[in-house]
Amino acid sequence: MSIASNLADINDTIPNNVTLVAVSKTKPNSDIIEAYNAGQRVFGENKVQELTAKADDLPKDIEWHLIGHVQTNKVKYIAPFVSLIHAVDSFKLLEEINKRAEQNNRIINCLFQVKIAEEDTKFGMSENEINELLCSNELKELNNVKIVGLMGMATNTDDENQIRNEFSSLKKIYDIFRIQNTEFKILSMGMSGDYQIAIEEGSNMVRVGSAIFGSRNYTL
Ligand SMILES: *Cc1c(COP(=O)(O)O)cnc(C)c1O
Repeated sequence: MSIASNLADINDTIPNNVTLVAVSKTKPNSDIIEAYNAGQRVFGENKVQELTAKADDLPKDIEWHLIGHVQTNKVKYIAPFVSLIHAVDSFKLLEEINKRAEQNNRIINCLFQVKIAEEDTKFGMSENEINELLCSNELKELNNVKIVGLMGMATNTDDENQIRNEFSSLKKIYDIFRIQNTEFKILSMGMSGDYQIAIEEGSNMVRVGSAIFGSRNYTL
């Protein structure tokens, strides 16, 4: 299977309102160009250094998303060009994104990461923490960040019911916040193994890596 045919297969199965983020982490630029030549424009990386290096070398009309946890001291490297930061999980991080966005005369779109998985290893905030942040006056003073939705990762399990329940609980939280926040429009959930379930449960942005580019051979 080629990258182009994998992409075509996935695009055939996802509805038009769902944005496909091609997760290219650990993959060479030649793979990204193959996807790009097949029409893909939205790519996701989880490491700041890898993201900036690739963005430097690759076509400028690529929309780059940072999908992984980001350290505060690295925000400055992506602030000039990143189009969406998926995994914001603290006010401190948001303040830094705002500061660096302002220095670049930009408004950076962000998603709050919600912890929906059982595992302790997954980053994210609770519904209550997000609610407090969204209602806070401090947030209103950050004019260079825009919270446009939520992101979440389901537990890594074969239990389809559990995955479905976790996605469904995230969709409920998203719907509640959307009533108060007119800028909310993105619900980022679903990866190679579970994006179909995620879409059935209301996702409108899926982050798919290995199903496009093949498995990654690295250990972290
Ligand atoms: C790696 C990664 C993905 C894509 O994973 P696949 O299983 O290869 O599709 C999606 N989201 C995040 C946050 C990731 O780190």
